[in-house]
Amino acid sequence: DLADDQFAEQQSGRVIGRFGKHADVEDQFSTIHRCHMRRTITSVVCGDRVLFRPGKDQTLTISGIIEAVEDRKSVLTRPDFYDGVKPVAANIDQIIIVSSVIPSLSLNIIDRYLVASEDVEITPVLLLNKVELLDDTQRAEVEEQLNIYRDIGYQIVYTSCKTLTGVDQLAACLKDKVSVFVGQSGVGKSSLINALLPEADEIIGDISDNSGLGQHTTTTAKLLHFPAGGDLIDSPGVREFALWHLPVERLTNGFKEFREYLGSCKFRDCKHGDDPSCRLKEAVQQGKISEKRYQSYHKILANMDELRPAHIKGG
Ligand code: GDP
Repeated sequence: DLADDQFAEQQSGRVIGRFGKHADVEDQFSTIHRCHMRRTITSVVCGDRVLFRPGKDQTLTISGIIEAVEDRKSVLTRPDFYDGVKPVAANIDQIIIVSSVIPSLSLNIIDRYLVASEDVEITPVLLLNKVELLDDTQRAEVEEQLNIYRDIGYQIVYTSCKTLTGVDQLAACLKDKVSVFVGQSGVGKSSLINALLPEADEIIGDISDNSGLGQHTTTTAKLLHFPAGGDLIDSPGVREFALWHLPVERLTNGFKEFREYLGSCKFRDCKHGDDPSCRLKEAVQQGKISEKRYQSYHKILANMDELRPAHIKGG
């Protein structure tokens, strides 16, 4: 019962929210159209670029129709019991990996998020929050640790939501890009987003029941615009994005400064442990690769079986 003459001309738009079988599409003039989807479309997620036709009858709650989804530049997925993985957001340009000095800074956790970001080929940015809690000596120590990442080419931003230090720099880093914030609970993701986009709290916090359709939508993401430019895609599921479903080869490749050494080990299935012919180990001994990152790699490797959901263990 979706008659063709119900709809206006096809145009391009972007999905800014999903609700059950429907999606909100923003057109080039920032008008939002709640849309049905053609049955041939298998997956539409927040951030998707789509071709759609607005409904002519704007009094309808759901008036438009999505006819096609453009190829995705990037996609974030989450583990799914039935399908292995499920897409949650698309066309993300950068992943802001948020850490804080309280609870203590964990380089191993940063490495896990970096591997996950490298795996989906989305540029990560490291953010350290709550820096006002550090004295000068502590600050120098922390900077020394994070310089390992700066030296292999990652951007680092230091912020405080209390003093608003670094928030302008963060806003500049978000401009003209689609970003997501990830990181452990308590590091300050909500506080940072709130400092940049005060209305986000309400919108993201409200995700579970704002559709009015009685659908279960708690893992659905939302796209919001920062006042200073750039977009945020956020949801509880997006924030928890991590690497627990990765096969081992992809773990190794996620340490980007390791890549140039991986092909030249004597054994193709080299575990990059203590074998004397391992080129990666040699690079560590020669100081070309940070000892900390190498140890962190082995720590993640050792824990991978535990991290993997039971149904894809060994896969
Ligand atoms: P999330 O779980 O990552 O979203 O973290 P929240 O934004 O909820 O912040 C967790 C706690 O850290 C809250 O009590 C915040 O007030 C506090 N917090 C956030 N940013 C800062 C900061 O820059 N400095 C300090 N001292 N506390 C902060």
